[in-house]
Amino acid sequence: MRLALFDLDGTLVDRRSAFTDAIAELSHDHGYGPEIERWLLTELADRADRHDFVRLRDTFRLGEDPDHLWRVYVDRMADSVTCRPAVLDSLTRLREAGWSIGVATNGASDIQRAKVHATGLSGLIDGMAASGDIDVRKPDPRLFELAAARCGTQLTPGDWMTGDNPETDIAGGHRAGLRAIWVRGRPWPEDLATPHHTVGDVPEAVDHLLSHSSA
Ligand SMILES: [Mg+2]
Repeated sequence: MRLALFDLDGTLVDRRSAFTDAIAELSHDHGYGPEIERWLLTELADRADRHDFVRLRDTFRLGEDPDHLWRVYVDRMADSVTCRPAVLDSLTRLREAGWSIGVATNGASDIQRAKVHATGLSGLIDGMAASGDIDVRKPDPRLFELAAARCGTQLTPGDWMTGDNPETDIAGGHRAGLRAIWVRGRPWPEDLATPHHTVGDVPEAVDHLLSHSSA
């Protein structure tokens, strides 16, 4: 059984556009002005967790419960986030070819799972490890190991990691003994070892995996 691990945000799902939509809706619904909306767009740009809403409350002396705001944000993100049909189709093809599919993602457990369920990815993956599950983040190999374990297997040389982040996904994948496919989109840092393969999107990565599985 071959194992393919994938990053979530910016790889399987489009977090960026979902994020700006979710913040705009949350700000509108709660009557937040441009100052708070800008703060949210800046502070939560890369990732968000419950504690960000504690900071929001403290920074702007809001009366709202941070746990409630976090749940609202999670729901808004789940409503807004998308996984392209071509990506879902490619994962279906990978499963049909006998691969196990796992997700290794840096993020809070509840929001990452909400995204996976909302996009239909949950029916296509065998297991998922979010950094919030164990307080260990990529590039730490333990998050890749947990993702494999959640797929009912363990990391084996020759398994693959696909992601958009050179440091956490590609260098991290290398450290975990995986072969790595980079979904390009940001500059490649000069000091990092190059990925085994570079693609424009996930379906192209799946094509590469499938062409290797018959070898
Ligand atoms: Mg990513």
